[in-house]
Amino acid sequence: MKRYYFDYAASTPVDPAVVKAMEPFWAEKFGNPGSLHSFGQEASAAVFEARDTIAKSLGCHYSEIIFTGSATEANNLALKGVVKSSKVQSPWPGRPKIITSAIEHDSVLDTCRELEKDGAEVVYLPVSKNGIVDLKKLESALDERTVLVSIMYANNEIGTIQPIFEISEIIKNFKNRKFKESTNQQINQVTNYPILHTDAVQAFNYLNCNVGDLGIDLLTLSSQKIYGPKGIGLLYIKKDLKISPLITGGGQENGFRSGTENVPGIVGFAKAIELADKIREKESKRLSALQEYFLKQVKKINPKIELNGDVKNRLPNNINLYITAKDGSRGSAQDLVIALDMAGFAVSPGSACSARVCSPSHVLKALGHSDEKAMSGLRITFGRQTDKKAIDSLLKTMDKLIRKA
Ligand code: PLP
Repeated sequence: MKRYYFDYAASTPVDPAVVKAMEPFWAEKFGNPGSLHSFGQEASAAVFEARDTIAKSLGCHYSEIIFTGSATEANNLALKGVVKSSKVQSPWPGRPKIITSAIEHDSVLDTCRELEKDGAEVVYLPVSKNGIVDLKKLESALDERTVLVSIMYANNEIGTIQPIFEISEIIKNFKNRKFKESTNQQINQVTNYPILHTDAVQAFNYLNCNVGDLGIDLLTLSSQKIYGPKGIGLLYIKKDLKISPLITGGGQENGFRSGTENVPGIVGFAKAIELADKIREKESKRLSALQEYFLKQVKKINPKIELNGDVKNRLPNNINLYITAKDGSRGSAQDLVIALDMAGFAVSPGSACSARVCSPSHVLKALGHSDEKAMSGLRITFGRQTDKKAIDSLLKTMDKLIRKA
């Protein structure tokens, strides 16, 4: 049976050019970058080159790139690192405050919940019914205790794109106001807070991630979402920001993340970034056209099928549907995912599933959907191997299955 992959938001295949770039760093150039001898130095040079390539892509200095074991770890470092260091650095008394959104990835939301247990205050900003963060609410939530604003660039379930530049402008204006109002010399010198973090894991393949253009201080990326290897992520940390490390030890990664560097992973990550930069524009256009085509065709199966999340401010590879069968009934999304898998199509339920038990998606609930609706999302994500033929095959099978549902 031919198999079709429509779950690129979960993971992407490693590009053959990435595999090739990594190959020498398993058995041939295996040295520890921290070693003084030539084996160590060749590994260290490869890490330096990779860091520099990535820095150029993001528009920053190489010393601002901190490699981690995953995007989850990078998000943890951003949130916990800022809150911990703020206890020493922030001149403002009281509990540190974080502002985030209700639709962040669990690696942010769960970390926020942990930080709440440790005494931090967290504001979870609501989103519109289209899945866009309410900027008015952000503006009114900002105060002098706010040490961090963490808003994702693009959502992993519904693909909605957040106005990161506008958010950075709001924060800049707030800082300027705070600066002018304050007569306290010590406070005047602290212009770092609130720090702005964005999780750009799903955005990088399709959107501009230049940190200067976005006006951000911290940015998270994951290699496995951009056709690179698993087990490697990064956090961009703007120069001079002092955040506490999660992992201490040998002082690698500028002291932000100790542990011997994952050299093959880092080399592969840089190659994946280079490739993504080259094809971003063309691939975004290609997938946008396929997305439009898919949405038109799926409505022909049943006009009652709804798209979750904004249609315009949306990643070109993301479709998230609320499916209603032709007879008006609704089979569970989980059943549909399994039926599609048995027919050779890998898609994802738009809800959180573990050990085959699903709970309503927190993202769909934040759009204002009922538990039932928030359990019934179907996420289809496209990627480099997706073409019109594959989409037509998927539509044909969905037509059969939804008719029966
Ligand atoms: N952030 C977003 C938006 C994601 O989509 C994911 C993974 O799905 C992560 C963070 C976590 O990535 P990883 O599992 O590579 O740590």
